[in-house]
Amino acid sequence: MTRRHRPRTALLSATDNSRSGAWAPVAVAAAALVVKTTVLVQLGGHPLLQPLGELDSAFYVQLARSLATDGPLAGGEPFFVSPLYVYFLGAIFALGGSIEAARVGLDFLAITDHNTTSHFEEIATRNGDFLLIPGEEVTTAWGHANVWGLDAWVDFRCTDDAGMQRIIDFVHERGGLFSPNHPKPGYPWEFGLTGFRVTETWQGPWRLGNDLSREFWERRLREGERAVAVGGSDCHSIAPAKVLHPWGLGTPCTWVSVQGTLDETGVLDAVRAGHTFVSEDPTGPFLEFTAECDGASYITGDAIEAKSGAPVTFTLDYRGPSEKKLRLFRDGELWQEVVADREEQSFEFELALDAPGYVRAEVAGFRGRPERGEVTHALTNPIYLRPA
Ligand SMILES: [Zn+2]
Repeated sequence: MTRRHRPRTALLSATDNSRSGAWAPVAVAAAALVVKTTVLVQLGGHPLLQPLGELDSAFYVQLARSLATDGPLAGGEPFFVSPLYVYFLGAIFALGGSIEAARVGLDFLAITDHNTTSHFEEIATRNGDFLLIPGEEVTTAWGHANVWGLDAWVDFRCTDDAGMQRIIDFVHERGGLFSPNHPKPGYPWEFGLTGFRVTETWQGPWRLGNDLSREFWERRLREGERAVAVGGSDCHSIAPAKVLHPWGLGTPCTWVSVQGTLDETGVLDAVRAGHTFVSEDPTGPFLEFTAECDGASYITGDAIEAKSGAPVTFTLDYRGPSEKKLRLFRDGELWQEVVADREEQSFEFELALDAPGYVRAEVAGFRGRPERGEVTHALTNPIYLRPA
């Protein structure tokens, strides 16, 4: 840093006019106070200035929707607060955009409801540039589960493992996906552990007991199942509706590696194959976990089937805040840990394909005060080891 010398003339000027110079800032502040008070008196009753929590954004959206449907003059007098923002938002609505999905940066959105498919019809009419995937949350007193990929209603009425197995079979026979939700205290999953591929490993903010949901998933992995982890925000409300919880859409966010077209089949096929990872938010962190063995490439969900002892190179491509811990778990145990000291970094790890098992990756670190402990920022599905 270089130090600048104040010009001599300015120094003299400040010295020579010391009395009026001291009063000048007071005069400016007083004038500003008068202007500010006048504005507050004139605009004090304006709805956008009321301190009522969610009112600001809700009111903007409401105004924009009326502009989109009834034209730019529908709002009456022009809006001076946040100039043109309401008109910009109205233009997005008029073009058929979804402000919420656009705001959070999602490419698709799965919408489920409890024990009903009454929303399927509306989803079909709204499915356009933005992909909406309909589903049902099969909801019982002993556990909830998401079902995707069906156009039929799934009867939720069951009271025991045998009854739930009939539901799972019903879904699988029709090519759908079945995924127990939030297997943790609150609304835990109390049915048996097998017979489905996907589990909701992360619901809402990490600290809401998601270490237990991860343990539920990992238990199935340790038992040799190719269980797929997905994340779901379980978002029940978006402003201007009454806000029911402090998190929104896409927190957490499931990233899906879709081969070919981004459509419902492409997304669900990729989920079924475990070609996914979960991050706390649509902005990341981004964590791609891949492997090479005998000239072949693998992504999460794949199994490396090669001769026993073959060397495997795992690669972690990370994009997110620096100083986060990147961890690899082998068969449920911590195997490797490195710290990303940059916001974009790749790491390689070597392994001999000596035993069947799996390797999966996570990003962890502190959010807020360190004494609150670490949270998981992202986790990937495993790559499976299958020596011949
Ligand atoms: Zn639920």
